[in-house]
Amino acid sequence: MEMLNQINDIDIAPNFRLSEFACPCCRKVMLHPLLLKKLVSLREMLGKPIYITSGYRCTEYNQKVGGIKNSYHKLGLAADIRVEGLSALDLLEYAEMIDFSGIGFYEKKNFLHLDVRPTKPTRWRG
Ligand SMILES: [Zn+2]
Ligand SMILES: [Zn+2]
Repeated sequence: MEMLNQINDIDIAPNFRLSEFACPCCRKVMLHPLLLKKLVSLREMLGKPIYITSGYRCTEYNQKVGGIKNSYHKLGLAADIRVEGLSALDLLEYAEMIDFSGIGFYEKKNFLHLDVRPTKPTRWRG
């Protein structure tokens, strides 16, 4: 049914749609406003589209992709991103300026994990 294809097809910021953050398996979605706000700032700074490779994940999907049990993706606090023409290292420099509390640097797979965890800032390499 065509109407169902419009689920989450809602502009939530100038360059982001809610559907981009939805779980690929069930289309459910949770998204913290602070995560969106920081992604909007990053988008403005870059002047380039940000591709969300993983936003919200339901428990089943998180298991399927090998996410850790208490992943911030399951709470709507995390997004994995990549940007066309930018390396993960380039992106890391910008992400640090925005001050995400959690940043995972995945050099080989060329993406960043960004989150707004409420606990102390954490950085890691994947
Ligand atoms: Zn799902
Ligand atoms: Zn992630």
